[in-house]
Amino acid sequence: MKYEPVIGLEVHVQLDTKTKLFCGCSTAFGARANSQICPVCIGLPGVLPVLNKEAVNLSIKTGLSLECTIAPFSKFDRKNYFYPDLPKAYQVSQFDLPVNLNGKLEIQVDGKSKVIGITRAHLEEDAGKLNHDETGTGDSGVDYNRGGIPLLEIVSEPDMRSPEEAYAYLKALKAILEYIAVSDCNMEQGSLRCDANISLRPEGQEKFGTRAEIKNLNSFRNVQKAIYYEMDRQAKMLDAGERVVQETRLYDAVSGKTRSMRSKEEANDYRYFPEPDLVPLVIDSAWSDSIKATLPELPQAKKARFVKEFELPEYDAGVLTTEIPLANYFEECVKEGAKPKVVSNWVLSELLRKLNDNNESIETCKIKPKMICEMLNLIDKGTISGKIAKTVFKEMFESGGSPEKIVQEKGLVQIADTGEIDQIIEQVLSDNTKSVEDFRGGKKNAFGFLVGQVMKASRGKANPQMVNQILGEKLK
Ligand SMILES: [Zn+2]
Repeated sequence: MKYEPVIGLEVHVQLDTKTKLFCGCSTAFGARANSQICPVCIGLPGVLPVLNKEAVNLSIKTGLSLECTIAPFSKFDRKNYFYPDLPKAYQVSQFDLPVNLNGKLEIQVDGKSKVIGITRAHLEEDAGKLNHDETGTGDSGVDYNRGGIPLLEIVSEPDMRSPEEAYAYLKALKAILEYIAVSDCNMEQGSLRCDANISLRPEGQEKFGTRAEIKNLNSFRNVQKAIYYEMDRQAKMLDAGERVVQETRLYDAVSGKTRSMRSKEEANDYRYFPEPDLVPLVIDSAWSDSIKATLPELPQAKKARFVKEFELPEYDAGVLTTEIPLANYFEECVKEGAKPKVVSNWVLSELLRKLNDNNESIETCKIKPKMICEMLNLIDKGTISGKIAKTVFKEMFESGGSPEKIVQEKGLVQIADTGEIDQIIEQVLSDNTKSVEDFRGGKKNAFGFLVGQVMKASRGKANPQMVNQILGEKLK
């Protein structure tokens, strides 16, 4: 039978605050185990939590960017469960009254837009981290440095219908979070964590099937792969007449498979009740308006502006606006006087490829926007050809030298002297009499070969238009 996947995602974002959600302990990553803890975050008796206002500010900022309603009244609840990484035996979270509700996020898949609903985005504290000794002693330790760090859990509606949509959702969400700078979004350090809920239903059926929740997804690609694996696993079960059980499964990136971890708990298993040590969170419109005023132009809006203002194709604008630094770089080049589409071509092809190959970012790139413009000017003036520009570009990327200097030092100036080109062509024609005969005998592609030989003989420096023109005349 043909099935349709129904996918919802839960993303935990570590908010970029200096201190934890309810105490003054540092949130810096990588400190010695248990060096950033205090009686509050390890839950000693008699302590009182104090809410971190900056964490609320960042939550509101995220909510507004996802077009959520900011709840004027929300509260914190205790989510009770016993696990060694949770010293209080409960996590302070938000149950029935979260700070952000009913948002949406627009994604693009195969050139088509789709709006994915955001159910809620609530504040909660992180748990500690278990470290298992891998040398075979069987020892485990627990590091509470992470316990109490503020997280925003962003829960989507089950609106996604393919692994590609899930991937696009995560990309779009990360872009927004980076634009508004509420998190460093570092997946390796756990600043961004994702769980996926997936079920199948026969195509055309309205009712949802039983879902499995997949945890331990540490990259967006793995989310996509895990969903594919689950679709296959669940489809085989359904085809065999078996029932999919509601459970939590772990994804193993090495085998590419998911395996059962525990049966899925229901909300009532957690015995939620209001946190008695914290007052409800009241956010008036003045507070949320003051945050709204700090929001930058968001990815979708920037993309639309790039299409309109710079007359760029949707694709170019989409790539250029994935990250703020890249968008700024592009705009900087245009401000320096370069033609938008020409800059976009260079950035999308040469620059991004080089950055990717060298594992570098746009911030550390030695080619500054001004240098791109200088290089494009040299092409416009005919000093260098587009082909030589690639050599210049490579040199600029490595040395950070100015394009004019590179062209002079390496003797890359284009040959635009008719006499000189004429001479090279004569030589090539006498060396390739067979091709000349072929061309005159009607083999048109011999012309391309001869142009190639001339360019080669001039070491790429001959002006291509002039070569074409003079060669054409000579062969008439
Ligand atoms: Zn603390």
